[in-house]
Amino acid sequence: MRIALIAHDKKKEELTDFIKKHVDFFKLHDLYATGTTGKILVEHTGLKISLKKSGPLGGDQEIGSMIANGKIDMVFFFRDPLTAQPHEPDVSALFRLSDVYRIPLATNVETAKHFLISQKK
Ligand code: PGA
Repeated sequence: MRIALIAHDKKKEELTDFIKKHVDFFKLHDLYATGTTGKILVEHTGLKISLKKSGPLGGDQEIGSMIANGKIDMVFFFRDPLTAQPHEPDVSALFRLSDVYRIPLATNVETAKHFLISQKK
């Protein structure tokens, strides 16, 4: 599978912990991430990840474009619902495209856990 990994700043640690815990799953897949999230994940997990631009600088739109072109199968986007994001329109566009193309999108760690359980079946 081709998996996109993204987290807002206050959720980056949570996503990193989640990926570390499930590294045996993630190492089997092609991984893509927005710039800052990806850099942190590479540093802390050693996984090979293709990095896009930072989210606020167009990275979310790059991932959205991949979704629209059939190049992403699953998205983990841990979002921060309590902080205003300057690039909210880009985030909304990514979520919208996930729905248009019916791509599974986990926006928090509990949903993410269910995604992994569903993959083990
Ligand atoms: P970042 O972008 O990984 O470059 O921080 C994520 C985001 O969309 O906020």
